Amino acid sequence: MNRSGLRSVPSVDRVLRELGVTELPRPLIVRIVRREIDALRKGEEIPAPAQVLSRIRKAVQALASLRIQPLINGTGILVHTNFGRAPLGPLVVERLSTIASSYNNLEYGAVSGGRGSRAGYLEEGLAVLCNSEAATVVNNNAAALVLIVRHLCGSARPSDAGPSHSGSDKTVRDEVIISRGELIQIGGGFRVPEILESSGARLREIGTTNKTSLDDYDRAISPRTAMILKVHRSNFFMDGFVESPRTSEIATLSRRYKVPFIEDLGSGAMVETERVAQELEHEPIPREALGHGVDLICFSGDKLLGGPQAGVIAGKAKWVAALKREPLFRALRCDKLVLSALEATVDLYLTESKVRPSHVGAGGSESIRVIEMMRLTNEELLERAQAIVSALRDTGVTTVVGEGHSQIGGGTLPRSEILSVTLDLSHPTLKPQEIAERLRTRAIPVVGYVSRGTFKIDLRTVFRPQDEELVKAICEVCNRGVV
Ligand SMILES: *Cc1c(COP(=O)(O)O)cnc(C)c1O
Repeated sequence: MNRSGLRSVPSVDRVLRELGVTELPRPLIVRIVRREIDALRKGEEIPAPAQVLSRIRKAVQALASLRIQPLINGTGILVHTNFGRAPLGPLVVERLSTIASSYNNLEYGAVSGGRGSRAGYLEEGLAVLCNSEAATVVNNNAAALVLIVRHLCGSARPSDAGPSHSGSDKTVRDEVIISRGELIQIGGGFRVPEILESSGARLREIGTTNKTSLDDYDRAISPRTAMILKVHRSNFFMDGFVESPRTSEIATLSRRYKVPFIEDLGSGAMVETERVAQELEHEPIPREALGHGVDLICFSGDKLLGGPQAGVIAGKAKWVAALKREPLFRALRCDKLVLSALEATVDLYLTESKVRPSHVGAGGSESIRVIEMMRLTNEELLERAQAIVSALRDTGVTTVVGEGHSQIGGGTLPRSEILSVTLDLSHPTLKPQEIAERLRTRAIPVVGYVSRGTFKIDLRTVFRPQDEELVKAICEVCNRGVV
């Protein structure tokens, strides 16, 4: 019906009254209603009031679904970038909440009664864990890489530039030597070459996609070389006609030419993944890389380390100290919540016997969530699956115990899968995609996956206390109207 017809644009007040209570703060709903009504005023046709209301309800729901909220991860992907990467365990959360709700000594030295060192305790713990001279932390691994590259490219090198390089030699050091096989993209929007160039570096690409030799590194080194960078190919693997020199060989070369050697490890696994679950391959460990002679490493806090989002930098004390003096460091620093969660995570590694690396002392009892999930045995999972299946008898959704393959995810161990236990759901009239949609669009979303025409929920990434909610969610699948 057009403007001259009988229908008129409803008033904002009327729509708000008819919407009734919804779960969002009223000012947000008012904003949506105004926007929708403005759009109606500009349009040719004015739909029926019921249609107007349904459009507005959909817009409200769409906004509500963007609010950060818990979900049940039935994908079997342990470090899921879309799901906030590593979930934190109860001890870490307890620390976090204690610090969050109270004043604290973030930069206060209680002993001196004056200004204290921010992250001083954490830096010591990280250094012990990485077996490094020093360590520090910034906002995320991308930030760590930017800070390192910005510092080493273009600026004067603090102490290792020999007399031949100072004074008369005015060559700028701005080149980062990197293998073409490591110019990778991680997730959305992290491309190593772009990060390097935006940090003021010139790329000195060497070798080919599949082969880079030590000689390629050797020939690329010049007075313009600021650093050699090695990037862990975390989210893909190459097989076949492949070659790259060992880390220790590159380290020897870098020492000969006095060029800093940096490795972006990506994940920062502290435990030997192949010992946690036998199907897993070995993921590079920070202390190993440093042991091979790398000057500085960086890695994420929220991948296999299992902590909050952060970027850890560890290695030579003089480089760590120099990075901390960079003005940019201030812009990349972590807040008290992240620092306290990371501190608690590192403490768990240093005290917990199940995750403690072999080179540090004895320990306690709580664990790191992502590692606990890797460790879950299929007997445990099977027992839970059977309990869920019997709770779901006579509900209309046929649920049977199936087999799945959990992945580490988050761009780590792309080749490795852990055998796992799934709930396989089917329904006489609903398609697997429809089951998926109904579970996904409830108040506490359940996200599974469809494999070979079956909708599956991998129990490895569902926490035991969520089993009850899962049963509820599956029951609802049949009782819900079309979404
Ligand atoms: C994940 C990853 C990054 C990015 O880390 P963020 O903590 O997300 O910034 C960088 N490099 C490698 C090799 C990675 O795997």
